Amino acid sequence: MHSSISYDPMNEPQLLDLAFAALVDHLVDLGEPRYRAAQLWRAVYADLVTSYEAITTLPQGLRTKLEACLPWEALMCAQSHASADGRTTKVLWKLQDGETIESVLMRYDSRATACLSTQVGCAMGCQFCDTGQSGFRRNLSIGEIIGQALAHARTLRDEGRRLSNIVFMGMGEPMDNYDATLGTIRTMNDPKGMGIGARAFTLSTVGIIPGIRRLANESIQVNLAVSLHTADNQLRNSLVPANRTHPLPKLLDACRAYIEKTHRRVSFEVALIAGINDSIDHARQMAKSLRGMLCHVNLIPFNTIRKSAWKGSDVEQIHRFKSILSDAGIPTSVRQSRGEDIRAACGQLRRRDRTSY
Ligand code: SAH
Ligand code: SF4
Repeated sequence: MHSSISYDPMNEPQLLDLAFAALVDHLVDLGEPRYRAAQLWRAVYADLVTSYEAITTLPQGLRTKLEACLPWEALMCAQSHASADGRTTKVLWKLQDGETIESVLMRYDSRATACLSTQVGCAMGCQFCDTGQSGFRRNLSIGEIIGQALAHARTLRDEGRRLSNIVFMGMGEPMDNYDATLGTIRTMNDPKGMGIGARAFTLSTVGIIPGIRRLANESIQVNLAVSLHTADNQLRNSLVPANRTHPLPKLLDACRAYIEKTHRRVSFEVALIAGINDSIDHARQMAKSLRGMLCHVNLIPFNTIRKSAWKGSDVEQIHRFKSILSDAGIPTSVRQSRGEDIRAACGQLRRRDRTSY
């Protein structure tokens, strides 16, 4: 096993890190015909097999060769917790270098959504987020992100269901690991594999402006969610330290440019914390800042985190906040996060010490 310091998942390609074109090149380099890549791709991403040995469409000699030269990175499931209603499952994954991450599977009546991590911890340090408070270790590789989704897809298949939606709202800031996040989306979007539609992905960002600009120019159009929390620039500086680098007026300009370029609605996520960002004045200020934008606001009651005395706003206050935005013509919903009983709700995922599970 690698040590956590020297381990670099980008060093040697592993199976799940490769885009389809790179997989074709790899097999051609091994002297194999191109169609072997298509067989392998289908087995991994459509049939959801878990080992080369199980891919019986490939000759035994090739399976042995691949085993030796193209490692199939496995995430080890260290713990799995189901919520009391059985609809939410949180999994703690152990990575090859011993780091740990979490992902969450949420079952709804007509869809099933995996909430994936993109980093071990997060460097953004938001005050209200357990992930941010547990510090940053490293980026995840494409394979480590896809591995979470594949495992949830297998669970759902065994329940007679399919994975339909992906949200990058687990641990980490996806725009801080941009290339791997987009690579993951492209692989999962391939109709010959998992076939998850572009519109079924939601990338959530704390508000990294260059990332929003890049995303606007991608050929694949996914949903963009921006974690706004407040339209008060000073308050946002203290809640979201990244606001000092990407201040609110510029962030909103970048969102407007994104909308103009893509003609797509941006979601703004707002975690309402009692007495901090949930006053009527805060709501009015937000309504003023967002008026006229093609957007949608999701109000989420703040979920308690360790070492914080903050509490989520009460239902009445959330509805007062909502009415002000709705009256200003801004589509607004109130979202309940899932899985609070298993600490799987927004902001509650956390990097752990290796010894603590
Ligand atoms: N880093 C990205 C994506 C991961 S966080 C981002 O910040 O957008 C996913 C969502 O959970 C974000 O909207 C974030 O603001 C929200 N969140 C974090 N801590 C929370 C908490 N304690 N209660 C409610 N939502 C929280
Ligand atoms: Fe990172 Fe998002 Fe948590 Fe902020 S809210 S610390 S950006 S994961």
